[in-house]
Amino acid sequence: MTGSDGSGGSAAAGATEFDVIVIGAGPVGENMADYAVRGGLSAALVENELVGGECSYWACMPSKALLRTPHAVAAARRLPGVRVEFDPAAVLARRDEFSSHWSDDGQVTWAEGAGITVVRGRARLAGVRRVLVTDGDGHERELRARHAVAVCTGSVPTTPPIPGLDGVRVWHSREATSAQRVPGRLGVLGGGVVGVEMAQAWSALGAEVTLLARDDRLLPSTEPIAGELVADGLRAAGVDVRLNTGLDEVKSAGDGQGIELRYSSTENGTGSRQVDELLVATGRRPNTADIGLAELGLDEKQPLRVDDSGMVLGLDGGWLYAAGDVTGRAPLTHQGKYGARIAAAAIVARANGEPARPERWSEYAATADHVAVPQVVFTDPEVAAVGLTAEKATEAGHHIRTVDLDIAVAGSYLHADGYTGKARAVIDTDRDVLLGVTFVGPDVAELLHAATIAVAGEVPLGRLWHAVPAFPTVSEVWLRLLEACRSGSGS
Ligand SMILES: Cc1cc2nc3c(=O)[nH]c(=O)nc-3n(C[C@H](O)[C@H](O)[C@H](O)COP(=O)(O)OP(=O)(O)OC[C@H]3O[C@@H](n4cnc5c(N)ncnc54)[C@H](O)[C@@H]3O)c2cc1C
Repeated sequence: MTGSDGSGGSAAAGATEFDVIVIGAGPVGENMADYAVRGGLSAALVENELVGGECSYWACMPSKALLRTPHAVAAARRLPGVRVEFDPAAVLARRDEFSSHWSDDGQVTWAEGAGITVVRGRARLAGVRRVLVTDGDGHERELRARHAVAVCTGSVPTTPPIPGLDGVRVWHSREATSAQRVPGRLGVLGGGVVGVEMAQAWSALGAEVTLLARDDRLLPSTEPIAGELVADGLRAAGVDVRLNTGLDEVKSAGDGQGIELRYSSTENGTGSRQVDELLVATGRRPNTADIGLAELGLDEKQPLRVDDSGMVLGLDGGWLYAAGDVTGRAPLTHQGKYGARIAAAAIVARANGEPARPERWSEYAATADHVAVPQVVFTDPEVAAVGLTAEKATEAGHHIRTVDLDIAVAGSYLHADGYTGKARAVIDTDRDVLLGVTFVGPDVAELLHAATIAVAGEVPLGRLWHAVPAFPTVSEVWLRLLEACRSGSGS
């Protein structure tokens, strides 16, 4: 199956009919189109800004590029006799490289090489299997899908209703990941992943950072120990972390003086601080506005709800799919791409007349979204977590036991002097499998995939006992965790 002019890739740019039309060319839309083409269908990929989406230019890649050098330097400094410095300008330049200097030429070349037709413009659903695309000059073009339209429009930052906030120029994640100079004083509003990672990065690059978080701990959706150790790490790096603190008012501090923040906390009363930039990192919402959902009878104020095969719920005909941040399921690049692979497989199978039932753990069901989402927070210490926290597991009705221990094994002592880390396992006591695992400590990110396999694979603890960690690695913490699980210790 091909574009209506009989060809795929760039040659089909003038075509108006495709097997699949994907709206939004972030990592999720790219994967959706790629897997549809691999399955023998033709696909148009419509993008309003840059092919590659938020992740490539203003999120994952630039943020991790900003964090990587300070991270490596901190790791080296944990060893005796090492003296190491770095040049913030070189970090910004490397970040620019990893963001492809905000040009999507490379990604367009990849997409066309993969047989995908890239269409530039803002897309809007115009009816059943119909998409209206408006290009930068205001020209409209209608595309028709033979089988499916997939919405992969991502998410946008939210701004809380704080007096004065709309009267000053603030940073959101785009500015925080693409800034060309290090601010002298940076305020960060929000203690979630974006807030803590950017506080870590800009503090390491030389900014004086104040972080205001309204909760009593950072990273409130992770195990409590993660937020506690990350707060300790940020404070040790010089960040002024203020918990239980709300931003009451914002105003310009006068010409060239930056922004004045007035805040109050349940512990320390009110206070104020002047900053040069304020990063508002208070969350994101699915990007569902103005894409024609209301006209289809769907609620555009809500995430686009899908079944496990990615098919949008509440609409007849089975032609509309969605994946990634827009669904509100697991707003992470890797998990959105997984959802796209699953949805594309279902679209291809159904185009070939197969039912593609989304049975649990089948190739047509994004089952892991519910039970085994891995996430790394790239702070110092890092947080690497998968599956359910103890709180979420209890809420979901599981009978659980938790095992907590220090990461203190030969491998960690060798890895860094004064290595401090913690691990928590959440065990389903009815089935004797792991429901969740969290590691917090320097360089724990690479421990995570083993945990993801254990959780997604529902590997019985008795069999995990035979997965022997190599000596002397930080992974030996697995042995200590399993010993604790077997001995019945924990709570
Ligand atoms: C600062 C930051 C750091 C992050 N770090 C990580 C990380 O380290 N690891 C991780 O897994 N996740 C990370 N994330 C989350 C990750 O960026 C998202 O989960 C991911 O980008 C979602 O991909 P997506 O394709 O669903 O959406 P997006 O990447 O947002 O792409 C959506 C695309 O759709 C386009 N679009 C929207 N509407 C239309 C329309 N009407 N017509 C045409 N095109 C349209 C947009 O222009 C955009 O290109 C981070 C997020 C932020 C903000």
